[in-house]
Amino acid sequence: MNSETNSKQALIGLNQTELECICSHLQEPSFRTEQLFTWLYKSSVNSFHEMRNFPNELRQRLHEQYCIHPLELIRVTGSTTESTRKFLFGLQTGEMVESVLMREKNRVTICISSQVGCVLDCLFCATASMGFQKNLSVGEIVDQFLQVRRESQSAITNIVFMGMGEPFLNYDKVIAAADLLNNENGIKFGAQRITISTVGIIPKIIRYTDEKHRYKLAVSLNGFSQESRLKTMSIARKYPLPELMNAIDDYTSNSRHPVTFEYVLMEGITDSIDDAYKLIKLLSGKRCKVNIIPYNEIGGDYHRPPEKVIKAFIAVMKSAPFPVTIRWSKGTDISAGCGQLAVLEKTP
Ligand code: SAH
Repeated sequence: MNSETNSKQALIGLNQTELECICSHLQEPSFRTEQLFTWLYKSSVNSFHEMRNFPNELRQRLHEQYCIHPLELIRVTGSTTESTRKFLFGLQTGEMVESVLMREKNRVTICISSQVGCVLDCLFCATASMGFQKNLSVGEIVDQFLQVRRESQSAITNIVFMGMGEPFLNYDKVIAAADLLNNENGIKFGAQRITISTVGIIPKIIRYTDEKHRYKLAVSLNGFSQESRLKTMSIARKYPLPELMNAIDDYTSNSRHPVTFEYVLMEGITDSIDDAYKLIKLLSGKRCKVNIIPYNEIGGDYHRPPEKVIKAFIAVMKSAPFPVTIRWSKGTDISAGCGQLAVLEKTP
């Protein structure tokens, strides 16, 4: 356990205004707020004793009343085949959550979780089998980044909200966390290097567009029609494809950035040549990119198509009028690939 992690209120996750309240509660002058913000997010210290420009007596009072990290790093699992590591964290309330660090050429990406478990019941996803346990707080989201950054040999270049949970069902906390990650006086992570992925929660996509956030938006499509989405994603009943597409069109015409569609290739479900042509038809004319994800096995009813089927699907997609990339998930040997995150340990 980190020296400053326990059941006291954690400071990671608080923004400038909230830290100002802490400083005034401690009857400290207002300039301490900025110093505290810098220590927490820029210098990313692990203990109050490292806050060198604070008087001893203040460090002691902070230590008595607060802790720094809301998460405890329990275990790091390294993939044997690829430069991928999975991080298991404990929350102060006892639940556990995972993050994944992936390295590919010059890209070092952290995949972070927004919820413990997930309320959605997408049939192909391992996180769904955990059920929903809780929304993560701002601190629990940001701390995944800070603690993984500490363990990473190279600078992290990208953050993706593609771990456990549905970010847009924890909208306020996810946006506040992204804002903290992006804050220029702290972590200063570029907005365009932060991607938020949603299953397609329409009211939140509309709100996201209205609020003009600059983080990249990704939508998990996993089908080319309302019927094909419904085969595996029951949430499509609540948020049907035509309405979803309208909300996304609105987003792309109001934003400077295209949307990324994720499309999981599942044997016999989403992988036929005909499916590829229908997908191209659905998305032609849209400002988008498509990310094809060959299915990662989770020991259930769904399977990755044979390689020649994947290749044939991709060959058709290459004729699309929008960019298409293939995401061969990293770390599948340690269940760190897309959709494989599920904490198997029992909480105390
Ligand atoms: N709930 C959000 C964030 C999760 S992102 C969303 O749905 O976008 C996780 C991505 O991995 C999603 O695109 C999802 O469709 C995909 N996925 C889930 N299970 C998978 C699996 N077993 N193999 C490959 N991709 C999977």
